[in-house]
Amino acid sequence: MGIVTPFYISGRPATSDDVIDIRHPYDGRLVGSTANATPEQVEAAVAAAAAVAPVAAALPASARAAALDHVSARLKERADEIAKLITAENGKPLKWSRAEVSRAVSTFRWAAEEARRFSGTVQRLDTDPIATGRLALVKRVPRGPVLGIAPFNFPLNLVAHKVAPALAVGAPIVLKPAPATPLSALVLGAILTETDLPEGMWSIVPIPNDRAAALVADPRLPVVSFTGSGPVGWQIRDAVPRKHVTLELGGNAAVVVCEDWDDLDWAASRIATFSNYQAGQSCIAVQRVYVHERHYDALADKLVTAVEGQRTGDPSDEATDVGPLISAAAAERVEAWVAEAVSAGAKLLTGGTREGAAFAPTVLAAVPVEAKVVAEEVFGPVLVLERVPSDEAGFAAVNDSRYGLQAGVFTRRLDRAFEAHRVLDVGGIIVGDVPSYRADQMPYGGAKASGVGREGLASAMADYTEERVMVLTGL
Ligand code: NAD
Repeated sequence: MGIVTPFYISGRPATSDDVIDIRHPYDGRLVGSTANATPEQVEAAVAAAAAVAPVAAALPASARAAALDHVSARLKERADEIAKLITAENGKPLKWSRAEVSRAVSTFRWAAEEARRFSGTVQRLDTDPIATGRLALVKRVPRGPVLGIAPFNFPLNLVAHKVAPALAVGAPIVLKPAPATPLSALVLGAILTETDLPEGMWSIVPIPNDRAAALVADPRLPVVSFTGSGPVGWQIRDAVPRKHVTLELGGNAAVVVCEDWDDLDWAASRIATFSNYQAGQSCIAVQRVYVHERHYDALADKLVTAVEGQRTGDPSDEATDVGPLISAAAAERVEAWVAEAVSAGAKLLTGGTREGAAFAPTVLAAVPVEAKVVAEEVFGPVLVLERVPSDEAGFAAVNDSRYGLQAGVFTRRLDRAFEAHRVLDVGGIIVGDVPSYRADQMPYGGAKASGVGREGLASAMADYTEERVMVLTGL
């Protein structure tokens, strides 16, 4: 047996006999091992988080920012090694793993900046005669320790989106990584041990799913920040209605190519890339494409060419565009959904084949709206093309979904952009590009079944804290 990578209880390395092996989704080889934390170890992590909470809340901004800057710098130094680890445990092509590490570098750097500027407000109250001589000081205090639950598809950066804002506001965090991809999070843990953060401030606890409900229910963790699938997310919210729960869930992100759009090559290239990046396993991968009838035939041709130009294969190869899905079972589900669409009358323009965990980049047209590849989250490299008679019909089609994460609108018309912003029931609209875009400075999250609450550093920091007002009298 090789080395068992430690997990972290109260910031200290730990292990147990319950070893889990992590295998490469591409060829099944052993990538590494870690262990599930025992119930006693999880209890120690939660107790320590609760105990340190007042100390953590009082940490000076300089100390919080210094720790976050350190993590950012060390992720950058170790970027190559960490990118290779992400590819090994998740199967995403190396170039996307590199992009993920550089995103995490910037997430921690931006968190340090936000920690330095995170402050309160001063409000005059004497707008009403009864409050003459009164002034309110409003500061934000952590709600308490955070439980972060992360999915497999960005094993480092979605962990960063939980850990960085917690540390930035001085909230302890207990982080549960995805069972398939814990190793990248544990490298982050190793880097966090190099900081001066107080004991108990952070723990990273791999545990099996059937033990996660108890952690969710623990009253010492009043904030739950969950990124993952809808059924699990909504079940968590229902289980703990009194907790502050953020849900970043799935979607079936759409694009509208408007009548005025003049660069079909750019649109085809962006849509082809971002329907297949990470084999479609991104919550904002392009899934539905509504094309104005003026452009439909030309764009369909260009798209099929662009999709067929994507290089598939070994994700460790720097030139690979599309690697395997997380497992053969995931690819089999995608295969079944494509078969269902085709048997309901959809036209298969390219792709549709599976080899183990690899599913060929696929384009479908004329798909009935009830088919799962339209109505549900495919989470695979599948694109559904639809001809629309007007931009308005495209916007209506985007909204004709129970999801609402982000949408892309290819237009150069300002009035169309404003219309999209007004009518699209989604968390974010990207004008002139695909919806597969997220920056740490902006709020990020979904409408409808895609979740509640927003991430993005400032939004998550507001989420992990609440306002406490002090009224000064006699001024
Ligand atoms: P998942 O829901 O299966 O797992 C997510 C996490 O929840 C994992 O850590 C898992 O171990 C844990 N979990 C499972 N059962 C649990 C339970 N009963 N109680 C508490 N935790 C439990 O999701 P996944 O397959 O890892 O990730 C894919 C999903 O995540 C997709 O739906 C995708 O769209 C979504 N996602 C959303 C965003 C976003 O920001 N909106 C980003 C990435 C992924």
